[in-house]
Parts: sequence; C-alpha cells; structure tokens
Amino acid sequence: MTPRIGVTTTTLANTGSYHTATGANGSYLGWLERAGALPVLIPNLAPELAGGYLDLLDGLLLTGGLDVHPLLFGAEPDKNLGEVDVPRDRFELPLVRQALERELPIFGICRGIQALNVAAGGTLRQDLVSDPVARLQHWQKPVGGPMVHHSVSVEPDSRLAGVVGQEKVAVNSYHHQAVDRVGEGLRAVGFALDGTIEAVEGTGEAFVLGVQWHPEVMGPEDAVSTALFDAFVAACGVGRRET
Ligand code: MN
Repeated sequence: MTPRIGVTTTTLANTGSYHTATGANGSYLGWLERAGALPVLIPNLAPELAGGYLDLLDGLLLTGGLDVHPLLFGAEPDKNLGEVDVPRDRFELPLVRQALERELPIFGICRGIQALNVAAGGTLRQDLVSDPVARLQHWQKPVGGPMVHHSVSVEPDSRLAGVVGQEKVAVNSYHHQAVDRVGEGLRAVGFALDGTIEAVEGTGEAFVLGVQWHPEVMGPEDAVSTALFDAFVAACGVGRRET
C-alpha cells in the first residue's frame, strides 16, 4: 500500500494583500513521489486539528522554513534571529509532539530537525553566522544548486549510519541555526567538524530522524539523499493502516 506522508508547509504572505497561502518546495514532493509515497500537504491551521491530520497519515516530513520563535524553547530573541512563521510554530510543534507520542515515522529537514528538537523540549542556537564556536560556513552565499559544502561525521552505532552506510558524509549547508541542547528521546548522531549538530534521531523503535542539511536539493544520483528518503518512506510503509 502507498504510504501517505504529511508534508509541513510554510505560511506565505501574498504581497499586497491580506491573504496568505500554503507552500512547500516541490523538491520534497518529488522525492516522496519517486520513493513511492503519496505526499499530503498539511496547512498551518488550529493546533486542535493536528490529531485529525495525523489520523490520515503514515508518516510526517518536516520541511525547511523560517526560524522557530525562541520563546518556544525558553530563550529571548537574539538580535540576529531571522524571520519567524508564527502560524506554523503554533501548529507544527503540537503536530510533532503528537506524532512522537503515536510513534509515527518522522523525517525532519533543516527547520524540520529544529522543530523536532524543540517539540521534544530541546533548544536551538539562534545564529551560527555570529557564533564564534561555529567556524565552518553553514550559510552559503549565494545559495547554489545541488552541491556539497562540508562533511558530517556519523555516529557508528546510529540508525543514520545504518541508512547511509557510511561514517562520514558530504552534505550541503543552508542554515544559520542549529540544535543546541538535544530534546528528550533524541540523540545527536551527526556532527560537523566545528561540533555543530547536523543530525539527531529518536532513541526508541520508531523511525525518527532529523538532518540539518537539505537532501531534497540534491538529485536522485546522490546516494545519501536517496538512502534517506527511501528509508523514511519504507518505515512509513511498515505502519500503513489497512483502511
Ligand atoms: Mn551545516
């Protein structure tokens, strides 16, 4: 059966109007489609609707997007905090918490690893560009095409290592924030050379994985990206409801 995978979205402001729109980069949808899943866009509505959406789904893809508001992880906004998406924060964090409780497979990408970590009670570093500890360039200028920027060391005994089959992977890097304190039920399993956390995964049985890079930007010839999406969709297929 085709796994139905929820895809979280960005709240888009329509210039010159009071209307908003719901958006997700088509590359996420293309990867899920290629891996045999049915992508379902999840709009940022009232948090009370989160459970109803999860009832429909076999897995949840947390996509990239704007910064998570620091008040949601107990911090004040740094002067270099980027734009935030309040409707998304308000909806996505309860959605992720409930998905974790239900042991639904979750794959978080960029903001997605950050949303996953905050939903699990963790915290974020708000701006790597001005952070002296982050010595690597994690924020590319200008944003390029499908290319890699730095390496990530993968914990050998992790689920991630099993998926990618390597203890060192080359990844792209388009983020100015990163996981700081790791949330409950998660562990850090991927690190850049400067110590920046680039991947976390769940410590339980469920497939829960977050990566700080953007596998969806890469083409299908990229073995790491293919392995990640294939493993996630396969995990969603295992729990597929027969309804
Ligand atoms: Mn990076």
